[in-house]
Amino acid sequence: MSAAALVAPGDAGGVVVGPLPVPRPSAGEVLIAVRTVGANHLDLHVMHGRGPGATARLPLVPGIDPAGEIVDQGPDVPGDRRGERVVVKPNIACGVCVYCLAGEEADCTDQRVVGGHRDGGAAEFVAVPSRNAIPIGGLDFATATAAVHSVPVALHAIEAAGGIEAGATVLVTGATGAVGAAAVQLARHAGARVLAASTSADVSTAGAEPLRYTDPDDLPALVAARAPDGAGLVVDGTGRGDVLTAAARCLAWRGRLVLCAAASAGDLRLDPRTFYQRRHTVVGAASASYADVARALELVAAGVVVPEIAAEFPLAQIHAAWAALGDRGRRGKVVIRVR
Ligand SMILES: [Zn+2]
Repeated sequence: MSAAALVAPGDAGGVVVGPLPVPRPSAGEVLIAVRTVGANHLDLHVMHGRGPGATARLPLVPGIDPAGEIVDQGPDVPGDRRGERVVVKPNIACGVCVYCLAGEEADCTDQRVVGGHRDGGAAEFVAVPSRNAIPIGGLDFATATAAVHSVPVALHAIEAAGGIEAGATVLVTGATGAVGAAAVQLARHAGARVLAASTSADVSTAGAEPLRYTDPDDLPALVAARAPDGAGLVVDGTGRGDVLTAAARCLAWRGRLVLCAAASAGDLRLDPRTFYQRRHTVVGAASASYADVARALELVAAGVVVPEIAAEFPLAQIHAAWAALGDRGRRGKVVIRVR
């Protein structure tokens, strides 16, 4: 099969596209004929040795979120799944820790990532645990690839922060990123008033009030001008210390700030009095449960959340796809069309 493979750690220069043997599905696994897979910043972290699983085993096929059709299955897979249209949930939960046993796989302490700890989907075929191959019904493959990580992560983050009541004011920072855009749409669906903040020139988002800023320090005044009481919930899709520091100053009485991204830029500075005097809460969320993914795909199929696709590239041009991630004007997912 044709596949992208990381053969030398460092950067995308260590990835070659060429022939590799078709993987064989082990017990409990299915083999997927891949149609689409995303280009993700996580791929670059894996190449640099900073991502999940790092580069312990080379060659490694990248690609965390492939979608396609099941063409084979290993022993111990219940029923006959061949022919099913599926998308892969990137995080594989251990299934035995206290969080997995409670159905809270997002907080599994021993997660493995497709395309990080094991071969991913930037290839014509990928084998994954059957449970991670989530049915997509009639959803098109590129949309499923664009949705399967960002939408469940946003859904899980909002629920981890206690959910959204109709009429609440929700501030989303990083609103034009994949997770942020999903959070905006989910908050609108919940009946919230949504302030969509971004440094992007194209911050307009249907149903939300755009809040363009250049300096994060300006955010509290911009929010106060529109919502003097502040935001009851802030969903941050940037993971940046300077943005989070400003966002924390936008919180209303009993406001909650939920972080669902990580970046290395700067420290988060909080006034400790706000926890006591203003009853603020800061919540960390990452990953998603299997139920979150199923629910997120239902919301996408229903048109509640519409993941944007910025560009598509063939597998042979996967390096151009990764380069497109750095395009500041980009809105939406960069998708690699494998076949
Ligand atoms: Zn677990």
